[in-house]
Order: sequence, then C-alpha cells, then structure tokens
Amino acid sequence: MRLREKTALITGGGRGIGAATAILFAWEGAKVGVMDLREESFKGVVDQGREMGLELKGFMGDVTDKKQVDRAVDAFVQEFGRIDILVNNAGIAISRPFLEKTVEDWEKTLRVNLIGVFLCSQSAAKYMLQQKSGKIVNISSIRGIEHCGREGVMDYSASKTAVIGLTKTMAKQLAPYIQVNAVAPGHTKTEMTLSLPEEVKRNMIEGSFLKRMAEPEDIAKAILFMASEDADFITGQTLVVDGGFSLKRT
Ligand code: NAD
Repeated sequence: MRLREKTALITGGGRGIGAATAILFAWEGAKVGVMDLREESFKGVVDQGREMGLELKGFMGDVTDKKQVDRAVDAFVQEFGRIDILVNNAGIAISRPFLEKTVEDWEKTLRVNLIGVFLCSQSAAKYMLQQKSGKIVNISSIRGIEHCGREGVMDYSASKTAVIGLTKTMAKQLAPYIQVNAVAPGHTKTEMTLSLPEEVKRNMIEGSFLKRMAEPEDIAKAILFMASEDADFITGQTLVVDGGFSLKRT
C-alpha cells in the first residue's frame, strides 16, 4: 500500500500505460481519477477496477483545452479533497515520412504531448502549492532522449525531448513543495504501437537488450516509484525504462 491515503489524477488513463498505472495506483491504496477525452475512453478501466474491488473515477477532459483541464482538476479536488499526484500521461504520435509531415501534425502533437503537460501541471500546481506538497510525473519517451528519434515521428520525438526540459524547469519553479520527474518508456505493448508493421516491432524487440517490448505494467511500476514517498528526494530527473534499448551496442 505505497499510496495509502493519496489521491492521484492520471491523464490519458483510459487505456495503455495510463490504465495500467491507474489500476496499480488504486491497488496501492490511492484514490484514483482517470482523465480522458470521452466517457467511453475511461469506462473500460473504471469497470475493470470495479471488478477488482477498486474504485476509480472518470473525469472527462481534453488536455489541450485549458477550460476543460481546469474543470476536470477542480472536479477531482471537489471529489477527493486534494490532489497529491498528477501523472501527465496523455500522448499521441502521428507517423508520416519527413517530406510529407504537415504543420497540422506538428501542432496536434505539440498541443497534446507538450502544452497538455503544462496545462495540467499548472492547474494541479495551484492546489499542490496550497497544500505545500505534491508530485508530478511526466511521461516522456525513449524517442525523446539522445540518439533515439525515429523516422516518421520527428514531431513526437521533439515533443518528448521538450517534456524532459519542461520537467527540469518545473522542478526548479515548483520546489521545494512539489517534486517533478519524468519517466521515459521504451517500446510498450499498447494501442499506440499495435498498428506498427511487424518488421518495425521485430526491430524494437531486437534493439532491446532484454529482447522484448515492455508491458504497460513495467512502465506503471516506474511511475509508481516516482509518485511514491520512495522518490521524496528526487526532482527534475528522467527515469528511462526501456529494457536497455538506449544502451549503445559497442
Ligand atoms: P495509448 O494511445 O494507448 O493511450 C493514450 C491515451 O491518451 C488514450 O486513452 C487517449 O484517449 C488519451 N488521450 C489522447 N489525447 C488526449 C487528450 N488530448 N486529452 C486527454 N486524453 C487524451 O498510448 P500509450 O502507449 O499508453 O502511451 C501513454 C504515454 O506513454 C504517451 O504519452 C506516450 O507518448 C508514452 N509512450 C508510449 C510508448 C509506447 O511504446 N506505447 C513509448 C514511450 C512513451
């Protein structure tokens, strides 16, 4: 019960890494809010939690829309009394070759993956600063760290590198009461990677020294660490969880 009596809001928590994190956090004793685009997006994980005897509550909201974000965060605090943990997990990737990449792709990606992190953090920090405590965990990506950009998703890579920069800056600005850290997952079995060609997925597995893709639960455990009291003296850092993919071969 590493999150006993804590409250946690997870953006994009309706499926994939966010859903695994929501279930794990609730299992560890937290009161969990799942924020996602539509009711259908979070119904599945809320029902799954109920079947396991865990109580999760869904909050509708688009992380790119300040009004919706503030409404969801306010509703969360009204429901649970405070906000101890925010996990900025919502993210998108639009794959298109370099010469065909559009301004719209860039804008959509940056709005969700980067500005969304800022808006949700700003909204939650308002309460966390009053409480004089809080933890924010941002989800970056292996594609946002050194040497790891991938063909077709240069805008995604740029957004995920920027999340690491934003994490460090927020860690300084929100200290000493709020710790802000990032988790950079490697290739993980979710809907985001499901539709990739088999050959690309094979290369992802081959490139990982542990010879597999991550399960969403592998990433959720690292997010739990960063959100828990075990990480009380860590701020501004990025934890890479990639089965060794980012290690150099020679
Ligand atoms: P996913 O596509 O399975 O789930 C993303 C969730 O975010 C969905 O429930 C979706 O509805 C929600 N979402 C999308 N846009 C939103 C918005 N504007 N507002 C609110 N919710 C929104 O993705 P995933 O694979 O679970 O990825 C979760 C995070 O981990 C993302 O930030 C992603 O970039 C990152 N990541 C994933 C991988 C991977 O291999 N799957 C690797 C590295 C990093």
